[in-house]
Amino acid sequence: MQTWLVTGGAGFIGGNFVLEAVADGIKIVNLDALTYAGNLDTLSSLDGDPCHTFVQGDIGDRALIAKLLDEHKPQAIVNFAAESHVDRSIDGPAAFVQTNVVGTLALLEAARDYWKNLHDEAKAQFRFLHVSTDEVYGSLGDSGKFSETTAYAPNSPYSASKAASDHLVRAFHHTYGLPVLTTNCSNNYGPYQFPEKLIPLVIAKAIAGEPLPVYGDGKNVRDWLYVGDHCSAIRTVLARGRVGETYNVGGDAERRNIEVVETICALLDERRPRQDGEPRKSQIAFVKDRPGHDRRYAIDASKLQSELGWKPAHTFERGIADTVDWYLDHQDWVRRVLDGSYRLERIGQEA
Ligand code: NAD
Repeated sequence: MQTWLVTGGAGFIGGNFVLEAVADGIKIVNLDALTYAGNLDTLSSLDGDPCHTFVQGDIGDRALIAKLLDEHKPQAIVNFAAESHVDRSIDGPAAFVQTNVVGTLALLEAARDYWKNLHDEAKAQFRFLHVSTDEVYGSLGDSGKFSETTAYAPNSPYSASKAASDHLVRAFHHTYGLPVLTTNCSNNYGPYQFPEKLIPLVIAKAIAGEPLPVYGDGKNVRDWLYVGDHCSAIRTVLARGRVGETYNVGGDAERRNIEVVETICALLDERRPRQDGEPRKSQIAFVKDRPGHDRRYAIDASKLQSELGWKPAHTFERGIADTVDWYLDHQDWVRRVLDGSYRLERIGQEA
């Protein structure tokens, strides 16, 4: 039976990843600091499951990581833990450097010390997979896509901190031989995403009849990746990726922000029409653009597709419809985030 140490597994992508891995019989030790973005409600179906051990703690706590590695002897570490919201990084970059750079360094140091003392077979099998973003590559014009060889040019404090962590991960491979893998993915969407990010924010506000804020002219383009497809890509890279390599993960679904918002409005109008019969599109309100807002991101995921045979299972149309349905069916999860009650009942084992 495999055991993996997952960090940030109470967050959006990490939570989806942990739910799927445990369902597949993998033992997960889930280390999460439970910042505002960590939500144990997401993991409530795992209560009492012997395959899931939750530990509240910081990836920057090297002694704690060393203790967990020694105790659970995982075959892999998957690092999702991060400060992840660009707008918050503009207001307060220091927390982003602390977790994404200093924290990742502590995790790498603990991983290196654990790995180097494993016996030969376990040493050869061990993997450290670092989850990162396409935002490290900066912004694109109307054409072209980011590939694994695109030069890093991060524009926000968030992407700069993720770029720094990617470089540290790379350096730990080249300097110490740590068997690392890095994935750089596009914008994720799907169940359990904190409603500060575009898609869940728009769904929540559209249902509540509130204005739907869209930055600038709404023409910024992002590639949208369904979270389940991202999780399957990570599992593929973990199983078969070449050590020391990076893999771009994309959903093959470039959309302008305004198109995304209009699609959500149309889906909600079909499923739950407004009482006054007005289309929800009328709630759209353009707001002052985010400073330094990257215009376009697009991902060339052909390396992952041709080398490892992965491709996304969801088209954007299917993924966004499933996501809208999930939020309609899980209004309670959203309500507990919005009213803050998800933070009140934390019972994490303080390590
Ligand atoms: P998230 O903000 O939803 O979750 C982050 C989790 O990390 C939270 O549970 C939080 O409590 C935890 N955490 C924060 N600081 C920590 C620390 N110091 N120690 C331990 N845990 C800590 O983020 P997400 O959207 O799930 O993103 C996961 C990873 O994927 C991040 O590394 C992010 O940079 C990357 N990523 C996300 C997207 C996206 O669209 N969401 C796109 C590309 C890359």
